[in-house]
Amino acid sequence: MSDRIPVQLIQTFDPTPGKIKARSTDNLIHTRSFTGLFRTLRMSGAGFLFLLFFGTVWLNWGGRQAVLWDLSESKFHIFGATFWPQDFILLSALLIIAAFGLFAITVFAGRVWCGYTCPQSSWTWIFMWCEKITEGDRNQRIKLQAAPWSLNKLLRRSAKHTLWLGISLLTGLTFVGYFTPIRPLAEALLTLQIAGISLFWVLFFTGATYLNAGWLREAVCMHMCPYARFQSVMFDKDTLTISYDAARGEIRGPRKREVNPANIGLGDCIDCQMCVQVCPTGIDIRDGLQMECIGCAACIDACDSIMDKMGYARGLIKYTSEHQLQGGKTHLLRPRLIGYTAVLLVMIAALTIALVQRPMVSLDVSKDRGLFRENSQGLIENIYSLKIINKTQQRQDYHLSLVDGDGFVLQGKMQLSLAPGEIVDVPVSVAMLSERPRSGSQEMTFKVVDSDEPEIYSVAKSRFVAPMNR
Ligand code: SF4
Ligand code: SF4
Repeated sequence: MSDRIPVQLIQTFDPTPGKIKARSTDNLIHTRSFTGLFRTLRMSGAGFLFLLFFGTVWLNWGGRQAVLWDLSESKFHIFGATFWPQDFILLSALLIIAAFGLFAITVFAGRVWCGYTCPQSSWTWIFMWCEKITEGDRNQRIKLQAAPWSLNKLLRRSAKHTLWLGISLLTGLTFVGYFTPIRPLAEALLTLQIAGISLFWVLFFTGATYLNAGWLREAVCMHMCPYARFQSVMFDKDTLTISYDAARGEIRGPRKREVNPANIGLGDCIDCQMCVQVCPTGIDIRDGLQMECIGCAACIDACDSIMDKMGYARGLIKYTSEHQLQGGKTHLLRPRLIGYTAVLLVMIAALTIALVQRPMVSLDVSKDRGLFRENSQGLIENIYSLKIINKTQQRQDYHLSLVDGDGFVLQGKMQLSLAPGEIVDVPVSVAMLSERPRSGSQEMTFKVVDSDEPEIYSVAKSRFVAPMNR
């Protein structure tokens, strides 16, 4: 515990004189845009995710939408595979793996998820870009905000909100399209015939996107996202975080380019405030690691470009660790990171095996409410209902049997042919043949086997009940 580094909660927009304010007078953050290596990485990551999100929903596979969570039929199609509610334990395993992956990456490199791939950040970057092309760069936006209403302001504002709403609508439509086939949904929207629950959810996600990426932005990260709160538990002194090298930068202050800072008692920080102006959460990274920092690295790009202009070495703000800042070395291989990675690899292997060995036929058994009855031959009989699902994409033939069913006979329709994805309920009875006195309740195992591929089967257990003292 002592090796962990503190993450501070700093009042982001402290109005105290002398404190830098990134927000303009209207209390909105107007970020300055900057180019640089990390911006390119961020935009490439976001571009890839957008392509994945907006593109995948339009792909078809085997005559249907390739990725579709069909709520009405409780099935999840993903390309050639179909998952049923019985398989959702695998989905839980996938979520646990994702959580562990996030822990491991956070221990290693801090909040890279937030800065590069989180949908909240990615959509916010796109909305900021819309702001820039409609209202101009930071200073123009601040001026526009302060200016009285005019035709110019009205047109620019309208263009921005139109773009925001357009992207939000596209996002809402696409998101709902993963649960309702996208083609008919889009057609219904375009012909204004969309109604009911689909209309509600499209509008809901449109509104949520518009609000989150357009208006709430960093407030979501700071006040609504739990990850920001527990990140400090995962950081240690070797975690790579974006930090300001105070030993090199202080004493900060303006100077002429040709002046050697050492000669006037200054460090390398020229106090230009660019790192603050580009920050989407409006913080000053020079105050130390803060909970509000989403690790987007915009301040690294900004500061590096200033360092280039001044002719100083880059890296006054950089990815580094607490140990490195204190003059030591970053230990990449440390017990916690090795532990997380090992657990992650084991879980990925277990999930892969579970996926490969997933039975492609499912069997559930439910016993009839009546305990037992005596049939026309005088045998004790129990009634069951077997629910069988063909989880493959082809028609399959199956037969039913009992496992270790000596002394019992299974009666009903034993041979079945099921269409792809078909679910059937088969009523069967089990009669007890044995002359041996068996009484009470005993386990009964049913089995459904693919007639062509016997290695594909599923079993389900129930109880057989016979009268006492028989
Ligand atoms: S961008 Fe660099 S030089 Fe400018 S204020 Fe920030 S840390 Fe100092
Ligand atoms: S301090 Fe730097 S890395 Fe953190 S959110 Fe602001 S710009 Fe991004």
